[in-house]
Amino acid sequence: MREFIGEEIVRGEVVEVDRETSTEFEAASLMEKYDGGPIVIFERLKGHECKAVSGVCGTRERIYRAIGADRDTYCARLSWAVKNPTPPKVSEEASFVEVSEPPSLDRLPVLRHYEKDPGRYITSGIVVARSADGSFQNASIHRLLVLGKDKLAIRIVPRHLYAMHKEAAKRGEDLQVAIVIGTHPAVYVGVNTSPEFKVDELWVSNALMGGSLKVAKCPDVEVNVPSEAEFVLEGEISKDEVVDEGPFVDLTGTYDIVRKQPVVKVRRILRRKDAIYQAILPGGSEHKLLMGIPKEAKMYEAVSKAVPSVKGVRLTNGGCCWFHAVVSIRKQAEGDGKNAALAALGSNPSLKHVVVVDEDIDLNKAEEVEWALATRFQGEDDLIVVRCARGSTLDPSSDQERILTTKLGIDATIPWNKPREKFMRAKIPF
Ligand code: MN
Repeated sequence: MREFIGEEIVRGEVVEVDRETSTEFEAASLMEKYDGGPIVIFERLKGHECKAVSGVCGTRERIYRAIGADRDTYCARLSWAVKNPTPPKVSEEASFVEVSEPPSLDRLPVLRHYEKDPGRYITSGIVVARSADGSFQNASIHRLLVLGKDKLAIRIVPRHLYAMHKEAAKRGEDLQVAIVIGTHPAVYVGVNTSPEFKVDELWVSNALMGGSLKVAKCPDVEVNVPSEAEFVLEGEISKDEVVDEGPFVDLTGTYDIVRKQPVVKVRRILRRKDAIYQAILPGGSEHKLLMGIPKEAKMYEAVSKAVPSVKGVRLTNGGCCWFHAVVSIRKQAEGDGKNAALAALGSNPSLKHVVVVDEDIDLNKAEEVEWALATRFQGEDDLIVVRCARGSTLDPSSDQERILTTKLGIDATIPWNKPREKFMRAKIPF
């Protein structure tokens, strides 16, 4: 992470906040101010010795650089890495050698972000766990609400860690975990790619890093974590203790509902000597991009199988990088637009509305997409409506009890039966 930030300083993409900043709302307000812009380093946080950094993955370009790709290649790079996970080198030396025992989460500059937040939330924690039978490890990001000096609440959606936690509980055991805070941005991207169950996400991260990731064994939990990690919290997810978790501001910028979620007991905290705490603003650009970009890669792959030529895919910012997609294709036959929309919707259950456009429309410009809707789309012919499909828990307009939603496929490509020139933007020949 430090090396990456160093390179971004050279590029002029880092802002340093020198004045004393409070972890209560003030740091979050600056993160919001710089959202989608430079990396922000907080040099002096009130009541804390260590610095904090945010926005490391705050722009698309920085994420592309972190994974060794660019705007044209990142989808292919991500898909390749998911299919070619490679074991990282195991290093004898780890950066996180300072130990505080008994642990005190008060010593970490965990931020309080929004008005109605129930407390301070760790938003950049990568939870690494070994399966109960010891055969594999898993890494995934989970939000963590600070409940006390050595206690956290963890939100676990029903995926891999959830299954591992249930399996351990069935054996009457707590699930041992190491929580990494602060590591290379490609590690954060890799752990969000959702490879198959039992594939270690850090292997995907390592593939994205061209094999340069080094991991080290945790002293007390049977897992390997990035050796350059800033903080590592060792502990366990309780087999049966649950508490109210939330309300937390999610991708939508609105509050997620409160749920009963498991408790994490922190046994000890390992850190670098001059550790930098990493923060991610909930609902901010970094949060959206880390969630959305790996899904774009999946969508690109799915649409590529449905139509011959895909130019690009985009989970739009206005759609929270989660619900709305724009897909641009080179239309080669009547109906390609609809097939592309159906494939995109099928690639990700959270997707709600997909707009398919021709290759002349720039995906980065919402106004151009709207222009395609205005001049190339007829609701009666070009709209696909799918009622009662599986949706996302995060959409307050959907049936959040049954997690059902209505999906729309919007074919805004040029109609096949009309002369193409009628739809082309006029040019000034000068
Ligand atoms: Mn997994």
